[in-house]
Amino acid sequence: MVGASTSTSTRNDLRLANAQTVAASCSRAKSRIAHSVLYTHFWPYANAVFQTQNASTAAVPASCPLHAYANVFRRHENAKHKLNIHNWKCDICGKAFSSEAYLDAHLERRHMHQLLHEHSEDDDVPTPTCLADHCDVLHCQVHEHTLASQGKLQGPTSYAPPTRPRSAHGPPTAHVGTISCREVGRRYQQCEAIANACFGSHHNHHHHHADDDDDDGKADAVHNFFMAQFCAPHACTDASRKPPPKPFSLPVPRPLTAAARVRRFLFGSLSVIVVVGLAYYYYVMLGHVAATSVGRGDLKRVRDARRPKSRLNELMWLAKTKLFFPKRHKVY
Ligand SMILES: [Zn+2]
Repeated sequence: MVGASTSTSTRNDLRLANAQTVAASCSRAKSRIAHSVLYTHFWPYANAVFQTQNASTAAVPASCPLHAYANVFRRHENAKHKLNIHNWKCDICGKAFSSEAYLDAHLERRHMHQLLHEHSEDDDVPTPTCLADHCDVLHCQVHEHTLASQGKLQGPTSYAPPTRPRSAHGPPTAHVGTISCREVGRRYQQCEAIANACFGSHHNHHHHHADDDDDDGKADAVHNFFMAQFCAPHACTDASRKPPPKPFSLPVPRPLTAAARVRRFLFGSLSVIVVVGLAYYYYVMLGHVAATSVGRGDLKRVRDARRPKSRLNELMWLAKTKLFFPKRHKVY
């Protein structure tokens, strides 16, 4: 077993070295925007199709660069604990910081040995990836503009304003400044490659089961969604043709916020109370009707005499005779 553990630790050393190399030239801020793009405009849809809460780990192969564990900063980002805007805590060592930027710098300085996840034992671990490298493909800049306009972005932005002059003929492609058609084509190809790596068809299986077909159908649907949401907008504009779709044009199911979760819980509880209350009410009323329709003779006359006239009093009377003192009721 010494040999096995040595090879595991060697493999982890290599993996860590690889992750450190990727992280060294990767922007944390841009990676965060890319992460936000995916979790705002894509994963909620994939989760719904695959019927899971975490399609980003459960429904994609390790070779997918969007796999949650591929993000080289995932562990660091998860270790950031925001108490409020001026109070950030490092969950790895417990130190507190007055801004996210200081905490980022601290992680960079102190915790570059803690880039890997604990589960790094098995072989099917995604290759460490710089999410920021996919920012052009994922239209990070458009998303960042939206976040900034909603006031949801603090601190330095990851993008400098476009410095290149705008094209003289025709409007510039939305938000990306002026880039060549060749660059647009390159982004489209990179986008398609990601879609294929993550949600490519599995039609090469030798044995076809009904389940495989079902999974293929889901993967195809998500593949098509990804292409429409992110890739189709990477098309060269030209005055004679109709413009390509805008990024993020497809709606996704909205992930529930904490407040929405509480509202849903309260509404759910209220519904249950109302339903149970109604059921109870009808149970009591039916019992009453049954009891009064059994004896048409003396019994009824006696009961009617004792019976209050107003509705509210009737309910009180029902509750008294049927619910709280059922034994006494049996006497007559
Ligand atoms: Zn720390």
